[in-house]
Amino acid sequence: MSKKPVGRLFAVASRICLGLGTVVLASCAASSGPGGGNNAALSTAAAQAKANTLAQQFTLVDTHIDVPFRLHRGAANLELDNSTGEFDFPKAKRGGLDGAFMSIYIPATVDAQGGAAELADKLIDDMEALVASAPSKFTLAACSADVAAAKAAGKVALPLGMENGGPIAGDLAALTHFRERGIRYITLAHSKSNHISDSSYDSNRRWHGLSPFGVDLLAHMNKQGVMVDVSHISDEAFWQVLQLSATPVIASHSSLRHFTPGFERNMDDSMVKALGDAGGVIQINFGSAFLTEAAQVWGATFTEAATAYATAQGLDPTDPANAAKAKEFRTDYLKTNPFAYASIDDVLDHIDRAVQLAGIDAVGLGSDFDGVGDSLPINLKHVGDYPNLIAGLLKRGYSDVDIEKIMGGNVLRVWQEVEAYAAEQGTALSCSVANR
Ligand SMILES: [Zn+2]
Repeated sequence: MSKKPVGRLFAVASRICLGLGTVVLASCAASSGPGGGNNAALSTAAAQAKANTLAQQFTLVDTHIDVPFRLHRGAANLELDNSTGEFDFPKAKRGGLDGAFMSIYIPATVDAQGGAAELADKLIDDMEALVASAPSKFTLAACSADVAAAKAAGKVALPLGMENGGPIAGDLAALTHFRERGIRYITLAHSKSNHISDSSYDSNRRWHGLSPFGVDLLAHMNKQGVMVDVSHISDEAFWQVLQLSATPVIASHSSLRHFTPGFERNMDDSMVKALGDAGGVIQINFGSAFLTEAAQVWGATFTEAATAYATAQGLDPTDPANAAKAKEFRTDYLKTNPFAYASIDDVLDHIDRAVQLAGIDAVGLGSDFDGVGDSLPINLKHVGDYPNLIAGLLKRGYSDVDIEKIMGGNVLRVWQEVEAYAAEQGTALSCSVANR
């Protein structure tokens, strides 16, 4: 609560409103009126009420939700308000979610064993089937304008992002294939260094950044209008991407390393600043381990205890047959070692610092809902809870204009810039897929 970069925020906001480029933010005209500088003075109840209104009014885009892999593991009816799972239509409508990037996630193990492209195609098939089964609720999104069209039609748009470039398999024709199937960003690597890039989670830094093919792929992603996602890749790869990309890039679900020292998966201050300077956006991840050192320490201590238990019992932790025992151990462990859940204030601290470093145009939301297990902040447990975060932004003095940008305006601007570049290159994307 102590960090309120209000003066700077307002200065930046008014500057941006004069030069919006292709993004039209409906609230610009009211940036200095009630609901701008007075937001910090709202009572808690008034902030919550206003947040509920803004969530419905502004376009909310979340760049990383792991629904495809959740459905791959087990079917769910996303037209209903499910008691488990963090995304479904009723919750999305309550939370004001308009554009939910579905993560076409390919585990590094699949990448290593073969079958990455087949899995990606299968997960995309599943998303097409989901939309076909509930056409009045969900729609695919082939371009940024589809999100607004979906919102106007009362639907939730489901653009696609590929998490792990493994399915590209060194073949630029595969990039075209997945682009035609609707992939609009690619996270170059996941938990292991791959044929495109080194990974922040992998001590094997075989490329010291991008591979020669990765450099080539990047140019073709730019040309074809597929956003480059720097989440998960190593620092070296990040700096290379920033140097090489012809268009702004996104970090689809990353937070700030400042709050989780030593955790390379998050971005350090210089990276956040450089990303913003290059016109890109950092989309804040809500997983507690991405937000606080306490959650990081809890995770490390738990892993140590679980490993010690498995060793003492002679259990192979990688054997699926031992999954029930592992779950039982975790349940017991939690009774005496409660998980260090982050709070909404922790998420707000990340947003504040990212705004201080990179400016109000460089920050957005990449929750990782359905992707981080039971580790989400208190009161930010699913897509129905975005208004709680918006209320926090209001209480910290963010103006309506600022909030519209964080909720989705910033990433939509980047997406539009990437689309415009592809059009200049003669490879414009058609919106016709989604709105049929
Ligand atoms: Zn991820």
